[in-house]
Amino acid sequence: MNETSPAVRRRTFLLAATALTVAGAGAGDPASADPSGRKERPAVAARSVGAFEVIPLLDAAGPFFLDRQVAFPQATPHAWDLARGVDPGAFGPGETWRLDFRCYAIRGPRGRLTLVDTGVGPDGSPAGGWAPTPGRLPSELERAGIDPVDVDVVVLTHLHEDHFGWSVGLDGRPMFPNARYVVQRSEVAALPDGDAARAYVVDPLRVTGQLDEVDGATRLATAPGRSGGSIRVIPTPGHTPGHQSVVVDHGREQVIVTGDVLVHAVQLVDPGVAYRYEADPDVARRTRQRLLAEARARRTVLATAHLTQPWTEVATEPR
Ligand SMILES: [Zn+2]
Repeated sequence: MNETSPAVRRRTFLLAATALTVAGAGAGDPASADPSGRKERPAVAARSVGAFEVIPLLDAAGPFFLDRQVAFPQATPHAWDLARGVDPGAFGPGETWRLDFRCYAIRGPRGRLTLVDTGVGPDGSPAGGWAPTPGRLPSELERAGIDPVDVDVVVLTHLHEDHFGWSVGLDGRPMFPNARYVVQRSEVAALPDGDAARAYVVDPLRVTGQLDEVDGATRLATAPGRSGGSIRVIPTPGHTPGHQSVVVDHGREQVIVTGDVLVHAVQLVDPGVAYRYEADPDVARRTRQRLLAEARARRTVLATAHLTQPWTEVATEPR
């Protein structure tokens, strides 16, 4: 699972080095330390697909509030063993499930910026009641050299609390004032009365005219020329009714930012395993099986929200 696909060029993108430049702080400068005391992870590599660069942004990480067998009741001991080989970081002490909460930025030609998901959000956001820590997306963006005013498009894969947390501030003002926020119309329509997403993110973005409800597959950006490529959203329902994923491709190169099509490696090694909080487990299973089969055939690299590594390749042969 760790070999690098020849289909996707990989170049080192030293986020840490960028941070030092942006912050103007040198090694040993107290300003460069994370004030929360969280352990910094090493810089991770972005991936280039044609003219686009996909950059992982880790908003939060920690244990889930349910043991893993409770979250994935159908998973067998064999499936857990295989999953441990794919994503060992997901296995905490005992039965603990450890997960990341990751967003991705996609930088295109002329500096166009697309952000996919906005994490758990600040202390006091709707996810604050259960997420392991408050999010730190603003500092991650700074580390990547991204100013929120320069973000053109925010894609919300779905309207769960750990995916829209930094869309607006606690004052209800959009965090990305010049962006349109792309969400499937069916996702908004399916929100239950009283759902936190409606008051926290949908209504404020409607007030400012920034909510862009789309229907089905929609192209977001195209880059001309030989080093071109495109970004589009595709419906990947099941986890939620209007769940969508983001496809970045150029010729044979492809990265898919999956959202929550799979939330643990156990669903990669056995796509039939349901996650406890899927809105429609049968639809979710079919979506996952189809996406993973296509990813395997195309040697697509998956950019997941909750695995403890930003890039995952699907094994060439089903296990
Ligand atoms: Zn999630």
